[in-house]
Amino acid sequence: MSHIYERVALIGLGLIAGSMGLAMRRAGLVGEIVGTARTAETRDVAVGLGLCDRVTETNAEAVQGADLVVLCVPVGVMGAIAAEIAPHLAPGCTVTDVGSVKRAVIEAVGPHLPEGVHFIPAHPLAGTEHSGPNSGFADLFRNRWSLLVPQEGTDEAAVARLRALWEGMGANVDVMDADHHDLVLAVTSHTPHLIAYTMVGVADDLRRVTDSEVIKYSAAGFRDFTRIAASDPTMWRDVFLTNREATLEILGRFTEELFALQRAIRKGDGDHLFDYFTRTRAIRRSIIEAGQDTDAPDFGRSGDRTKT
Ligand code: NAP
Repeated sequence: MSHIYERVALIGLGLIAGSMGLAMRRAGLVGEIVGTARTAETRDVAVGLGLCDRVTETNAEAVQGADLVVLCVPVGVMGAIAAEIAPHLAPGCTVTDVGSVKRAVIEAVGPHLPEGVHFIPAHPLAGTEHSGPNSGFADLFRNRWSLLVPQEGTDEAAVARLRALWEGMGANVDVMDADHHDLVLAVTSHTPHLIAYTMVGVADDLRRVTDSEVIKYSAAGFRDFTRIAASDPTMWRDVFLTNREATLEILGRFTEELFALQRAIRKGDGDHLFDYFTRTRAIRRSIIEAGQDTDAPDFGRSGDRTKT
């Protein structure tokens, strides 16, 4: 099989880049994989684990001669890195990213890229609460969605090529508008993370229940909050700073619903609570029917490593 890209540059070598490196290599999708990261330690681990074929010390060196460049760093630093690599990009190459927010990345990265370079933002909806080069695994993207967010006028062949890469790594691919992406993700990922952070913070602050009681008696619901709230602080700080409007909109709606439920509890309105919980149960059922989560008790904890 011929390669989809001959040389891929991974900028950042954490969970997502590492998983991409392993998945691309396993499926024989690309020729050479060159990687780079901020610290020498991460670069050494990445080579040791075979996440890439070779590493470079600088971002500029990594992109030289690459026909695909993937920005796999926190959203807040993508603009600066784009400015740094722009003069070194090969003519006709594709630059993509895996950032969790799309409008802000387009605005930060797009203006730096020269004519003739295809810029196709992307976001794999797959991850875990672990980060760093040791956390990657080749199956991360299997049966997960990867969203491509091409701008108007982007070369269709370049988009098809990137789609083929994601499909080759096991992902399902959809194309989406940037603003709609940011709103959807505010609902499905960003606001839920904020709620998890809050709940874990509340438990930590509540002096009448000790930390050891929280840990010892943590029920399944709370344990899931703690798992989500263990996610990388840099990544999530950047997500909220860059997807501010959509997150605030959804948070506003969340607060209204929370107040309605609070009122139902105070008034003893069991019908309201029952109807509400019946509706939410149906949503859970449709997620399982769509194959996006497991129906195993306790989320099949022993087998399933992925979360959305
Ligand atoms: P990660 O495991 O924390 O890895 C981040 C990588 O970026 C590391 O190699 C780090 O290098 C490098 N880096 C950090 N700051 C940098 C800087 N200022 N300059 C250069 N390199 C820098 O992160 P990740 O989970 O793979 O996330 C990467 C991107 O994917 C983020 O934009 C995130 O929004 C997106 N994403 C994440 C998930 C998820 O669940 N984790 C899911 C989908 C998309 P060092 O190790 O040397 O510091």
